[in-house]
Amino acid sequence: MKNNLDIITALSHEFGTARYVMGGGGNTSCKDRETLWIKPSGTTLLGLAPERFIAMDRARLATLFTIETPADATAREALVKSVMEAAVKPETPGRASVEAPVHECFEARFVVHTHPTLANGLACALGGREAAGKWFPDSLWLDYTDPGYTLSLRVRKELEAYRANHEGREPRLVWLQNHGVFVAGNTAEEIRETYAHLMGRLEEAYRAAGVDTATPAPGTAPPDSFREAALPVLQAALGTDATVVLARPPINCAAGPVSPDHLVYVKSYIYEGVVTEEALRAFAARRGYPARVLALPEGMLACGATAAVAERAAEFAADAARIRQLARAFGGVQYLSDAARRFLENWEVESYRARQTG
Ligand SMILES: [Zn+2]
Repeated sequence: MKNNLDIITALSHEFGTARYVMGGGGNTSCKDRETLWIKPSGTTLLGLAPERFIAMDRARLATLFTIETPADATAREALVKSVMEAAVKPETPGRASVEAPVHECFEARFVVHTHPTLANGLACALGGREAAGKWFPDSLWLDYTDPGYTLSLRVRKELEAYRANHEGREPRLVWLQNHGVFVAGNTAEEIRETYAHLMGRLEEAYRAAGVDTATPAPGTAPPDSFREAALPVLQAALGTDATVVLARPPINCAAGPVSPDHLVYVKSYIYEGVVTEEALRAFAARRGYPARVLALPEGMLACGATAAVAERAAEFAADAARIRQLARAFGGVQYLSDAARRFLENWEVESYRARQTG
């Protein structure tokens, strides 16, 4: 029989494709009574191998749920980080995914957390909760919660309540509003069945609403002159953040952040103004960060200090545009609140991850 690490590696590869995650998004784990093996921070699901998982002492990790934590968010996250570091077993040094405490909350042996575009069309919609209740009556829906420790406390509480109402049974599918899904199961087959059910029902729901789920054919790529004209202006205004500038077909861009990952890779807001140095500087001063993606009538421009940063920004901006389109099926898109956005803009852990994967 295959061991758990081989199984979770296979599942990570299966659900690490573009249909389920982008960039370094998503994370997976398996556990026995004493140990939780989790994806390291800053890695991709497709790149995982059995020996790359970080082994964590579950008893030490679970002290997170009983310790007194400071009210100040920065002090709290620092304490949580140190508890998580102390829980990492010496034989697998490294930094565990920030979502490790959430994985610990599940009793199920395998947990596969992803951000499928099709699922986020529902999770990032105004009527998401109602739609989840209608199409996935056995699932658990969680309203948006700041990622990290706060999220794990919330998941723990909600899972306990669910078990209490379902004769000790745990949900196989958990929706995180404006984020993605957690799928949990004791066997690889259970995980596969739940994902197949999820994707199949979503197709049905979109069809019922008359919303096309096919990836739209890319529009006309802008002429080279478009990028060439913008490049010196961008480099003057953004400096090294515009070392690489990619030009893509125009998108019907999202007007705000749809999820934490989109916020990290695209920044909260896409720039839609005219391309002048002065206007770009004004945007940076007002928003607190330089524009990373520009959505213009001729096309989209994605900027980055490296090709990877620019490439990822372009991908996530296109994905957000698609989520916005899909969310029409469930009452239209719901962006992150200002409070949620500010928390993420200041979140050290996410910026660490952006550095790692960018
Ligand atoms: Zn996530």
